[in-house]
Amino acid sequence: MDKVDCVVVGAGVIGLAIARRLAQAGREVIVLEAAEGIGTVTSSRNSEVIHAGIYYRAGSLMAQMCVNGKRALYRYSLDHGIPHRNCGKLIVATTPSETEKLQSIRAHAEANGVDDLQLLTGEAARALEPALNCDAALLSPSTGIIDSHAYMLALRGDAEEAGAAYAFHTPLLRARAAGGRIEIEAGGNAPMTLSCDLLVNAAGLGAPTVARSIEGLPVGMIPCAYLAKGNYFSCSARAPFSRLIYPVPEPGGLGVHLTLDMAGQARFGPDVEWVESIDYAVDPARAERFYPAIRRYWPTLPDGALMPSYSGIRPKIVPPAVATQDFLIQGPADHGIAGLINLFGIESPGLTSSLAIADHVGTLAEL
Ligand SMILES: Cc1cc2nc3c(=O)[nH]c(=O)nc-3n(C[C@H](O)[C@H](O)[C@H](O)COP(=O)(O)OP(=O)(O)OC[C@H]3O[C@@H](n4cnc5c(N)ncnc54)[C@H](O)[C@@H]3O)c2cc1C
Repeated sequence: MDKVDCVVVGAGVIGLAIARRLAQAGREVIVLEAAEGIGTVTSSRNSEVIHAGIYYRAGSLMAQMCVNGKRALYRYSLDHGIPHRNCGKLIVATTPSETEKLQSIRAHAEANGVDDLQLLTGEAARALEPALNCDAALLSPSTGIIDSHAYMLALRGDAEEAGAAYAFHTPLLRARAAGGRIEIEAGGNAPMTLSCDLLVNAAGLGAPTVARSIEGLPVGMIPCAYLAKGNYFSCSARAPFSRLIYPVPEPGGLGVHLTLDMAGQARFGPDVEWVESIDYAVDPARAERFYPAIRRYWPTLPDGALMPSYSGIRPKIVPPAVATQDFLIQGPADHGIAGLINLFGIESPGLTSSLAIADHVGTLAEL
């Protein structure tokens, strides 16, 4: 059986950032990826927004890692020439009762260390975005967008330069702790067995399944997996906005918001659809709920302009009745297996938080 220092399972943005962190600390790293390449699952099915860190529960991993990860991601993007734009976002209140909520959103953001939100009158918001219908708005200057694929390619390149290797079409099948090391069996085109000092489970939607295949890991430590699909619609009309536009959040989600890709093309969503299995098809009928929601802030959205686009699936670890979840990152102190780190529930803001999550895993791995 071949020996290796570290094995990272999953080459999404989280596994890539962790592999880079470990390799740059001088560790020997192999990344096992079930698919044909990097970032083919949730990491290429998201909004590509660099989130400010406004809504997460104060003190949560999400809040801390989003704020720290955002700063790190802007710095990394500048240093590595990753296409990104610090375009800002407006949280738009369209009724007086929503306007009242803006103050508490700002106070919540400040508790998370996001202290740059500006409260705007409807008139001031329309001076920035003339097509907007709104009573008042909060401007978040630190929100932005990024070319997430260019970012993942750069992470991969950094890790390879530091000696990391990637095995694609190579799913982890099972693992077990033995004699202070972890033995793993991988399948696919070139089945292999390996023994490693550190195993990092960054398998995204597959993380609970991977955890269940690790002999000796207490089942009570493995969260249940739930799937919350987010559907997107693109727009055939030019959306006359240069910032991201979000409604005041509603219970259970952020509401139907407008984000922009790096080419300036608008997309709407994601909504929240709890599903039993993974199916990325977007039901065109869901557009009927998007039109009225979007017209609250963009009244001139033309009829027939929305087209089904793509979807992503949030790796939930709490059922629909529970409003919020946090990232769940477990090291040996949590589950008792030396050299094992599991990452569960890495939904939004996982892309924004990726470099901070990698640092956190580095601490757990005692780098
Ligand atoms: C609809 C939606 C919108 C989002 N928008 C944003 C946003 O705007 N901003 C933001 O910051 N975050 C956003 N996110 C969150 C972000 O996309 C995720 O947090 C991030 O992509 C998770 O990356 P990951 O590497 O954990 O998972 P993934 O990208 O899914 O990667 C996991 C990898 O593990 C592999 N794998 C699985 N099982 C195995 C196995 N047994 N062996 C080997 N490999 C395996 C998979 O093939 C996959 O490549 C959004 C998420 C969703 C769903």
